[in-house]
Amino acid sequence: MGFPADAKRRVTMHRMRFASSIVELIGNTPLVRVQRVAAHVAPTVLAKVEYLNPGGSVKDRVAIRMIEAAERDGRLRPGGTIVEPTSGNTGAGLALAAHGKGYRCVFVCPDRVSQDKRDVLRAYGAEVVICPSTVPRDHPDSYHSVSDRLVAEIDGAWKPDQYTNPDGPASHAATTGPEIWRDTDGRVTHFVTGLGTGGTLNGTGRFLKRMGPVRVIGAAPEGSVYAGGNGQGYLVEGIGQDFFPLTHDPAVPDEIVAVPDDETFAMTRRLARDEGLLVGGSSGAAMVAALRVAERLGPSDVVVVLLPDGGRGYLTKIFNDDWMTVHGFDVPAHAVTAA
Ligand code: PMP
Repeated sequence: MGFPADAKRRVTMHRMRFASSIVELIGNTPLVRVQRVAAHVAPTVLAKVEYLNPGGSVKDRVAIRMIEAAERDGRLRPGGTIVEPTSGNTGAGLALAAHGKGYRCVFVCPDRVSQDKRDVLRAYGAEVVICPSTVPRDHPDSYHSVSDRLVAEIDGAWKPDQYTNPDGPASHAATTGPEIWRDTDGRVTHFVTGLGTGGTLNGTGRFLKRMGPVRVIGAAPEGSVYAGGNGQGYLVEGIGQDFFPLTHDPAVPDEIVAVPDDETFAMTRRLARDEGLLVGGSSGAAMVAALRVAERLGPSDVVVVLLPDGGRGYLTKIFNDDWMTVHGFDVPAHAVTAA
């Protein structure tokens, strides 16, 4: 006799392991111990590797939460268009989360965003509009102004606005923070991350501080408003601003470390060579800040540093010797540092 046909299929299905959609694979990124790069400091330094998200960055978490909230309350309707000023990663997250839902995506990027990142957005099927990054925020050609104009012009357009949307920080309070607390068994003492919208630091930091006496440290490029500057004079992508976004809560960071581009880029290259972590520039900045803090700490401290994205989007920039030289940065020696 055997099983009825559908019962047999259920048993077979039960043994297979798969996600029913790519968005189910967002989050739950691992912690990995930083070895050589952190060999000179006493604490345990753990990197949270966000490039292992399916869209390649921490921004997948934010994108899916913003879209689902907008669908729930009717801001985003079937057939709608998602318009967002994005340096690339939020666009990739939004595009993959919009996957299969039939939304059109239009992303507005400042021209400092690398060609590789623009190509990734187009590969996901998005339209990309490029704007000058040298004009002020209120200039009609700024990427903020252009995105506002597009939202007004396109029927059914919705702008997630990662700089004001509370679902950004909320996504980190709901996922990134709890994952770090769980995976360190509550032993994390310091959390370090870069400041772009400020959402990662705000949401994750707020959650961790609720759980225990965790110190929260922001990494910001020298010249950005977070570091007391006017928003000019740095090349690192994804962090730094020329204004304070609403998603940033100045009450959450206990300390902000200003990191110059030369240290950021040297560290970014070192992470790839010495740790096998091919990450982007904001990860280098966060690691510089984390080590600066860790140098003051002891062996019982556990420093978690979040690495927001991978390095493949920067092969023609940070990882390119000519680009480094043209922009006045030393090309670091190729020697591997002994552990
Ligand atoms: N690094 C990269 C590469 C990013 O794209 C972003 C997001 N802009 C950040 C860091 C900063 O994260 P947040 O916006 O949460 O401050």
